[in-house]
Amino acid sequence: MISEQDIWNILSEVPDPEIPVLNVVEMGIVRAVSVAGPRVEVTITPTYSGCPAMKTIEEDILEVLREKHIGDYEVKTVLSPAWTTDWMTDAAREKLRQTGIAPPERESADKALLLGRVRTIACPRCSSVHTHMISQFGSTACKALYKCDDCLEPFDYFKCI
Ligand SMILES: [Zn+2]
Repeated sequence: MISEQDIWNILSEVPDPEIPVLNVVEMGIVRAVSVAGPRVEVTITPTYSGCPAMKTIEEDILEVLREKHIGDYEVKTVLSPAWTTDWMTDAAREKLRQTGIAPPERESADKALLLGRVRTIACPRCSSVHTHMISQFGSTACKALYKCDDCLEPFDYFKCI
């Protein structure tokens, strides 16, 4: 018999296509898992609609369920409420920092930017808050490119939505 925990464990093996050091569970993409007898149902909310990786998330999950010989499964995509960086786990934020990507501020802080309030993004390498944005778009559309004024390293900042 397969338990819901088994399915969560299987899904933890699916890397986020944008940030492979994180899996789809840590990203908060998997919203629900339900197991009724042999039937497995997974509900996901993909990240940024602007990301080209969005479609591959569902395909990757279907593939891992197939690989694990789960006979009867369905992946449902729920777009509302929209995915937000607030759903990322603390462990996921810490892993981002260790990868050299500044994790998103809590509470969708980019709204503050829209309202014209200035905020500081700490450098993931030296923790300096003396940083400035070089470009709205970093290595992918989900990230902005920043540069640290102290250690002079450029780094990606994972934008909040
Ligand atoms: Zn720095």
